[in-house]
Amino acid sequence: MKALSLLIVLWSSFSFASEPVGYYNQGALIDGECLQESGEGYVQLLRDVGHIYGTSEMINMLKETAADMQRRYPGRDRLEIEDIAAKNGGDIDPHGSHENGLDVDIQYFKANNVEERSYAPSMVENGRASENFDVERNWELMKSLHRHGSVQMIFMDTVLKNKLIDYARSKGEYNSHLRVINSFHYVPNHDDHLHVRLNCPASARRCHSTTIRKGGAE
Ligand SMILES: [Zn+2]
Repeated sequence: MKALSLLIVLWSSFSFASEPVGYYNQGALIDGECLQESGEGYVQLLRDVGHIYGTSEMINMLKETAADMQRRYPGRDRLEIEDIAAKNGGDIDPHGSHENGLDVDIQYFKANNVEERSYAPSMVENGRASENFDVERNWELMKSLHRHGSVQMIFMDTVLKNKLIDYARSKGEYNSHLRVINSFHYVPNHDDHLHVRLNCPASARRCHSTTIRKGGAE
């Protein structure tokens, strides 16, 4: 009997393991995990379109990062999570990537604590970071994402990227966090949200930690 229950546990853990397949911008997601509408320190937005599935590594990173941030900054705005991927992955509007459960869009933390519950306003005003860009918490967010996930790249606006790098320098954390800083990439249209891309998990043999040439790699 014991052997049978062990077998069942093993079988279920294997059969429900998510698997990202293919490329970030041409791929699929098998047995993706669904992110709940809200949990400790986060709220998942835009649920009507259903882009709420990710690999287990993705879902774990989001939950752990959100909980970590809430414990360190209680009572502030929660992590507002936008699109991850569709149930079985594949092409989704308006994204070039987000196809295999390893890409996610997240809103920046806001100094005014207002949870938008929809798309956020731009964090760049007249070529400078808005007063509403909470630089301390956003820097801590980047570090936390790296602690809880195998982050490959974070796409953001160049003004916000420079703001975070200047802040890291002012805190004496630039050299000690080069891996975090080197993951920052400027991609246009990321002034109201950041985009986090994870590496393929080692077990995902059919996953490629790259994009293929077809335009719209983000
Ligand atoms: Zn994105």
